[in-house]
Amino acid sequence: MALMTPEQFEDSLKKLKPRIFMNGSKVENILENRNTRTVVEANKASYAWALDPKYKEIMSCYSPLIDEAVNRYTHVSASTEDLVKKAEAGTFTAENLGTCIYRCVGYDAFHSLASTTWEMDRDLGTKYHPRFMEYLKMVQKKDLSVAGALTEPRGSRNKKTLDWPDPYLSLKLVDKNKHGIVIRGAKINISGAYASHELVVLPQAAHFQGEEDYAVAFATPSDAQGITYVCQYTPYSAERDMADDLQELGNPVFGQRETSMVIFDNVFVPWERVFHCGEYAYSVKLVTRFAKTHRMTCGGTCKVGFMNQIIGAAKLIQEYKGLEKAAHINEELMEMVVLRETGRACGVAAAHKGAEEPEGSGVFLPDEMMGNVAKLNICNAFWRAMALAGDIGGGLTVTMPSLKELKNPEVKDYVEEFYSFGSDEPTENIMKVHKLLQNWTAGLHGVGTWHGAGPVMAQKIMLQRVIDYEHEKNLVKKTLRLKDKKSEK
Ligand SMILES: Cc1cc2nc3c(=O)[nH]c(=O)nc-3n(C[C@H](O)[C@H](O)[C@H](O)COP(=O)(O)OP(=O)(O)OC[C@H]3O[C@@H](n4cnc5c(N)ncnc54)[C@H](O)[C@@H]3O)c2cc1C
Repeated sequence: MALMTPEQFEDSLKKLKPRIFMNGSKVENILENRNTRTVVEANKASYAWALDPKYKEIMSCYSPLIDEAVNRYTHVSASTEDLVKKAEAGTFTAENLGTCIYRCVGYDAFHSLASTTWEMDRDLGTKYHPRFMEYLKMVQKKDLSVAGALTEPRGSRNKKTLDWPDPYLSLKLVDKNKHGIVIRGAKINISGAYASHELVVLPQAAHFQGEEDYAVAFATPSDAQGITYVCQYTPYSAERDMADDLQELGNPVFGQRETSMVIFDNVFVPWERVFHCGEYAYSVKLVTRFAKTHRMTCGGTCKVGFMNQIIGAAKLIQEYKGLEKAAHINEELMEMVVLRETGRACGVAAAHKGAEEPEGSGVFLPDEMMGNVAKLNICNAFWRAMALAGDIGGGLTVTMPSLKELKNPEVKDYVEEFYSFGSDEPTENIMKVHKLLQNWTAGLHGVGTWHGAGPVMAQKIMLQRVIDYEHEKNLVKKTLRLKDKKSEK
């Protein structure tokens, strides 16, 4: 059976020894540290759902590669139906976790690797595709969690990679021998990597002649020698560290979207795990195929799930306050639903309009236009949903005291009385829902949603490449029966 139980997943993490630092100290145990634990919990849920008869349709699927059921997050889409299921899984996990499912970036990187290794082999006679498929089989059989790493520190953006004084601001090959390659550099903002078994690493950008040493893609165990994680630390991390009871927090079990800088200090990667090495013209394909897959996910699926959390909290607060008949609140809620459904529609359209790429590869990728439109829309829609929810939530969303006051004999009764809205709802519930909304509207999610899978300009650049306006121009020419250009007569 290729599916691990959640308990087996947790046990498997105990065998790993990643080198992790957070807030100036070493994290000795990711299962015990309160912030890293949230990543463990989120991934753990993906193992539970894949085995749960209620959710296994969404979270697992049949893999012809190993002729067994596998976790969906290890499967490369082989049809538009697979892509639609992928979209559904993105929404399902996000709305149930209220944060990332940290297997998502690796899942999207698998799509890019399967497609591009196939193309490299076809065009260049390399042997990357069977090598990658063997790796994927291993991932599926062992049901591994795999994080994906592309984003790099980079040097001055107005200089070319080769002109940066520090050549390692983009991940670089430093040695190559008959056993494998050695890599130095870092990846930044990487979601959930330390609680994954494996990292799949792709280039962040297109590479050009002379940049062969930057054109690398590979997989490595997350605790390989030379890898160090320096974790994000935010006011939300501190709050979790300091809480008496995690139930005081806005997302008690799954927390924030946790990332880290992943440092590769002369990390050795054996050849059987190298999927791109020097073929610079294909780096851009790896990046753009990843981007279109990930933008469908980030734009049209997981933010739909996040918005459900925001809408749910706003609706509950409307009811606690007795504002069910307030026309403008109902309009605001409706606007949130429309924003959410627009996001969902773009995601589902990207999946339905997906196609095999390249033809003959057997790999299906979402539609470029709709995937990018999904993310572009959601960048703006999410801020708007946050603003609307903030209006409904009122000042309490950011002014509320700690839930600890409900246990403080000196003020407990006042807090119970004055934050009750005179309703029948336990004050504790009212405070918790406001805390959840604080988490969404006054926390990390606005910027996180904007930048995750690339900021707006990145989508606009991709859209400029696929929009040509010929169809539209021809329509007008036909409608008006415009004459040919003088030179064409
Ligand atoms: C919550 C979260 C989770 C993430 N998870 C992952 C992950 O798991 N794996 C992963 O690989 N990445 C991950 N990322 C990284 C994400 O993809 C990047 O943050 C995003 O691509 C933006 O890059 P950046 O943060 O370096 O910002 P920048 O690139 O510095 O962008 C800042 C601004 O500068 C502009 N800009 C940048 N370069 C240029 C240029 N050359 N010319 C003109 N303008 C420019 C941008 O358009 C933007 O307006 C995550 C990010 C977040 C926020």
